[in-house]
Amino acid sequence: AEEVGGDDKEVVREYFNNSGFQRWKKIYGETDDVNRVQKDIRLGHSKTVENAITMLTDDGSLRGVTVCDAGCGTGSLSIPLAKEGAIVTATDISAAMVAEAQKQAEEQLLAGKDDLSQAPVMPKFEVKDLESLDGKYHTVVCLDVLIHYPQSKADGMIAHLASLAENRLILSFAPKTFYYDILKRIGELFPGPSKATRAYLHSEADVERALQKVGWKINKRGLITTQFYFAKLVEAVPA
Ligand code: SAM
Repeated sequence: AEEVGGDDKEVVREYFNNSGFQRWKKIYGETDDVNRVQKDIRLGHSKTVENAITMLTDDGSLRGVTVCDAGCGTGSLSIPLAKEGAIVTATDISAAMVAEAQKQAEEQLLAGKDDLSQAPVMPKFEVKDLESLDGKYHTVVCLDVLIHYPQSKADGMIAHLASLAENRLILSFAPKTFYYDILKRIGELFPGPSKATRAYLHSEADVERALQKVGWKINKRGLITTQFYFAKLVEAVPA
């Protein structure tokens, strides 16, 4: 039975505008005030970003390529993509996240550049949930967002993201494997409900089925694991 009400999204928005924003800004940042678990998650996430960039650049330069980073967080992916020459549209449901991403992009892409015509094209940041995104992009990327939604919702999100992408869609999600499921049940990985939203795992087969339903197929797969961070990274293309 579906154990979830219809309000996942509102809970997620509230979380990432408040305590979740503070927690994840720290994890995605570079400061030393992180505990051992957070440091490990920071490492795992940075590997996901790195692997996504490798997937994206494997097929050729990103110069002038339009990329939509759905659920951009603090800009961990959007900023390096802009450095690679991509024309980035970066959106997030959280206004706090978008403001932080904008600030970091200005610091990392524009600061110290006397001649701004030499600077990368700034990502276009916008507060928007991915369900309301429209337009067409060469590539759509959505990293570590599906974890906040049950598969029943993830199906629709995947279908919508695929409809925005002309050439490829890159997704990462926490894989539902026996081992990870057990760890999660034990509660080692995720703090209690007071501290976080709940985390949903997705089986690769379910994600693949959602893609197939809308005429897409997976053509690259990767797995990123550290002690406390697990992510499956897939690249899909029109079948
Ligand atoms: N993709 C970023 C990265 O990998 O650095 C951030 C990952 S963070 C774990 C999840 C992000 O998804 C948060 O910034 C959150 O606000 C955003 N988010 C959650 N639900 C969303 C939705 N329905 N539409 C857009 N963004 C969403």
